[in-house]
Amino acid sequence: MKRFLASICFLALSALAGVAQTGSWSADIAEVRRAANLIPGAKPSRINVLKFAESRRTKNFSVQGAPETPSVQARTAFQVTYPDSYVMVDAGMDQTVHDFFGRGTKEPYDAAAAADVAKAVAGARMILVTHEHGDHVAGVIRGPQAAQLAPKTILTRAMVDILTTKPQMPEIRLTPEQASRFIVVDYERYLPVAPGIVLIKSAGHTPGSQMVFVALASGREYLLIGDATWHMDGVRQVKGKAAPWVTEDVNAVLDQLRWLNQLSKTDANLVIVASHDEEQHADLVQKKLLTNRFELR
Ligand SMILES: [Zn+2]
Repeated sequence: MKRFLASICFLALSALAGVAQTGSWSADIAEVRRAANLIPGAKPSRINVLKFAESRRTKNFSVQGAPETPSVQARTAFQVTYPDSYVMVDAGMDQTVHDFFGRGTKEPYDAAAAADVAKAVAGARMILVTHEHGDHVAGVIRGPQAAQLAPKTILTRAMVDILTTKPQMPEIRLTPEQASRFIVVDYERYLPVAPGIVLIKSAGHTPGSQMVFVALASGREYLLIGDATWHMDGVRQVKGKAAPWVTEDVNAVLDQLRWLNQLSKTDANLVIVASHDEEQHADLVQKKLLTNRFELR
């Protein structure tokens, strides 16, 4: 009876809060925007993207029901620039981790671009990561500069739990000693981390996944959605991945895709960016909504 009452209360509260009762994940863009104004200071000026490697698969893996046509997954990192500094979103990876993803095949790795990502990470004021997979986080875990990077890198408790206990690959496993060097946070739904930048908890693709909302000084807004989908058709069609090697919370990911799809229709000023969608990045660069080189200072 107690349990029954509790669930009635939950339903009533959910209805009041406008939470979709069919889904297990939701977010409120108005609350995210409010959080983006909490930390005083000048907002960022622009977002740069750099591709340092490619994964070549067919599109049917990225979007359920898509044809088996060739599709490039760009491996990327993002730089959010401020007047006097910048924040990185994702940290790149070295060739060893890249080769792990290649499954024995030689996929393109741009050593010069990867070196630029490593330089950008080294020069960043702060480093954020969208999730705990190797192509996003290896750059702050491996290599000679890792110990210097950790104190300016924010990881979530969920990310650290996975990275210390069951990392995607042995190469990115964190020892408890390494983990203790990072800034580790746990937050409920949204976490402002810099002027204009808010983390949005989005467990789904991985337990530690989060989206990064960025409001520029110009008023333009971005949502860096990590790997909620690998291709924006996933948002357009509200269709998840069909990759047998990926183990994700399918319902949570679909909730996120539904939310993003809705935002794409109602919020014309908001640019939703998927980490790996090569076609989308080219389009946004052409429209001057992203710049495809890093500013190294
Ligand atoms: Zn990825």
